[in-house]
Amino acid sequence: MPAQLLDGNAVAQKLLAATREEFAGLDRPPRLVAIRANDDAGSRWYARAQAQHCAANNLEYTLDELGATATREQILAAIVRHNQDETVAAILLHLPLPPRSDYLELVAAIDPRKDAEGAHPVNLGKLLAVGKNGAKDLLVPCTAASAVRLAQEAGAWAGKKAVVVGRSAIVGKPAALLLLGLNATVTVAHSYSDVAAECRAADLIIAATGASGAAWNRYRAKLAQWRNGGGEKPLPPDLSPLIKKEMVKEGATVIDVGVNQIPRALDDHGEPVKNAKGKPEMLYAGDVDFAAVKEIAGYITPPQGGVGPLTNAFLIRNTVAAAFHRRRV
Ligand code: NAP
Repeated sequence: MPAQLLDGNAVAQKLLAATREEFAGLDRPPRLVAIRANDDAGSRWYARAQAQHCAANNLEYTLDELGATATREQILAAIVRHNQDETVAAILLHLPLPPRSDYLELVAAIDPRKDAEGAHPVNLGKLLAVGKNGAKDLLVPCTAASAVRLAQEAGAWAGKKAVVVGRSAIVGKPAALLLLGLNATVTVAHSYSDVAAECRAADLIIAATGASGAAWNRYRAKLAQWRNGGGEKPLPPDLSPLIKKEMVKEGATVIDVGVNQIPRALDDHGEPVKNAKGKPEMLYAGDVDFAAVKEIAGYITPPQGGVGPLTNAFLIRNTVAAAFHRRRV
């Protein structure tokens, strides 16, 4: 029987309703400030989406556009200004940052009480101290929280085996800590792991790698280098999803966090197949082979409407929670 779909939009609506109830009585709409120091199309799209989500949830949204040539000092000065501004509830930094800017240094400069994405070292550190009852009162990393909340829709994880594939500070590691808080037995797999073996033993798989997108980007860079006379022509990469049907135990729950921008196909010369206008045909793919894995999994996130919408809802929740807690102190 095909897997049941985990509906991120429906869970997002539940989270937003619970947020309104939990943090009722704010005297003014909380304001989220997004600092952007790039000219990246993805970041522009993300900023528009953030503005819409904030408007739909009665939050103010300010995009502080510093431009792609902003210096580290200018970004730090903007963070300090928003830290000190009493009308700002929460702050986030858009990626990519300009060259020579250190994400860790900049995120650590945000007031941890205004940390919209739960990415500040203080908030990540608090996750380490989370006990059996989960992370209710924290500003949690939004994507990790979204993945784990969707897993909770599928059942309880106490004593079950969970594998998180990916160990970034903002997705994989916090997801693993949240699962430990739910009493799961957690393995964190990464690029040095036997991912297939770890996944086959798991009741729950959270895939958060972006592996095929990264493989495509590496290949593209080597191809460009070769065209400029450097090195050998690279072999076309395997852009198939990392998590395949044969890696999944029957009835397991599979949560796909990955977002990979890759060509629809490569031609005989290893170049992306082009559309009628002569542009490469690109698509967004997850880390999981949805069509095949849904035939064996018990629960699975759909290619659209899974982790993404719930991640946005956690951003709203963090902003409202930050406003609420600051006005009580
Ligand atoms: P990241 O910082 O690049 O980390 C990727 C992790 O995946 C690393 O730990 C890496 O291992 C591991 N990995 C890469 N290739 C692998 C392979 N072949 N086998 C096993 N592990 C592999 O990425 P991130 O920021 O955590 O994001 C992960 C994915 O989630 C990306 O696709 C991103 O676009 C997506 N994402 C989605 C949302 C959403 O709302 N849906 C939000 C944020 C991010 P090593 O540490 O060994 O290098």
